[in-house]
Amino acid sequence: MAIINNNYRKLSAGYLFPEIARRAKTYQDAHPGSMLHKLGIGNTTEPLPESILAGLHEKVDRLGKADTYTGYGDEQGDTPLREALAAYYKDMGIDISPDEFFVSDGAKADAANIQSLFDENNVVAIQDPAYPVYVDSNVVSGRTGRFDKNQGKYGGFVYLAGTEENGFFPTPPEGKVDLIYLCSPNNPTGAVATHEQLQAFVDYARNHKAVIIFDAAYAEYISDDSLPKSIFAIPGARECAIEINSFSKFAGFTGVRLGWTIVPKQLSAEDSKPGELHAMWFRRQVTFFNGASNIAQAGGLAVLSKQGLAQSRAIIQYYMENARIIREGLQSAGLTVYGGDNAPYVWVKTPQGMNSWEFFDQLLNQCQVIVTPGSGFGSAGEHYIRVSAFGHRDNIQAAVQSIQNNLVFSKE
Ligand code: PLP
Repeated sequence: MAIINNNYRKLSAGYLFPEIARRAKTYQDAHPGSMLHKLGIGNTTEPLPESILAGLHEKVDRLGKADTYTGYGDEQGDTPLREALAAYYKDMGIDISPDEFFVSDGAKADAANIQSLFDENNVVAIQDPAYPVYVDSNVVSGRTGRFDKNQGKYGGFVYLAGTEENGFFPTPPEGKVDLIYLCSPNNPTGAVATHEQLQAFVDYARNHKAVIIFDAAYAEYISDDSLPKSIFAIPGARECAIEINSFSKFAGFTGVRLGWTIVPKQLSAEDSKPGELHAMWFRRQVTFFNGASNIAQAGGLAVLSKQGLAQSRAIIQYYMENARIIREGLQSAGLTVYGGDNAPYVWVKTPQGMNSWEFFDQLLNQCQVIVTPGSGFGSAGEHYIRVSAFGHRDNIQAAVQSIQNNLVFSKE
């Protein structure tokens, strides 16, 4: 008699994006021929640059010849790629050894799986709002109680609210927690933690023997040199943090699929010695994962070349120009906006105290613009919407124009 993992039943109903798609379809069915401007999903749109395509093509060609064909690769990811990643961090002034990198097929799966290193009784602190995988992976693993619909929260989590008052980056919790998920630059708020803010979390984690799981998937979008691009820019982080990162938004690999996780050898938990968590993740990856595609890894190596970095960064500049157009355009439409200066997301306060879905519907009906309701990322996201800067320039301009021309609300 098979018994299901009952924790799946605790997952709050419906994923955000299917509901957005449903409302968009309802609108289009009622208004045949209408064109919707999509500023909702954080998916890359610009083609891969030439030097990275060359890296991918070359690997494909090598797979077609007997003397250059390769099958399964090195367990933690191809050694040249891990060495290139170590050099990439070294350029930021951060020492990570190539064998502390674990190459993966993207950050989402690592963000979901990393909790398996920790006992189910650990107390988990999560930024609110947050990218949903941190929450859902811990719900499914049994670290929470039920979802309280009225509060929009699961029992058992410690929610660290990002608010206007704290610039959407919380301070460490008052009480003791064991695992802390942080994402900077943040999806969805676009907020970026300062050195001091991250130092406060590192100090907290070291004092409480907690572990920080740091998602740096948007690190390359930081243009302000005073802001940290990695948790390992913070003294003491090697003892208490894991970093998850991705080529998806860095280099348009959302479809190619490639990421990495750093588990430092010095990292330890309350009941482990330095090195044990590193060895456990190695053990987990070699047993449950057979490596990222060797074609994708060759592409990753091309991204990290001088030319690849320059070309990828030029595309990031393009998206960040989109972000500027959105930020300034929405501001001039009378909206209050945050983020969008070191992150590809603009976090917009709903006018007149509207809730997130009400404002979503208003933007859809009045302006034919699709955004993401902030409440879909957690209860502290209520009264906000997320606008994504991923898109072709003319679509972004048309969407902003439509909001400027058609959005009607009283600006009391
Ligand atoms: N982490 C954050 C904060 C994200 O926003 C995303 C994707 O949107 C991911 C991770 C997923 O990255 P990947 O495509 O590498 O799985």
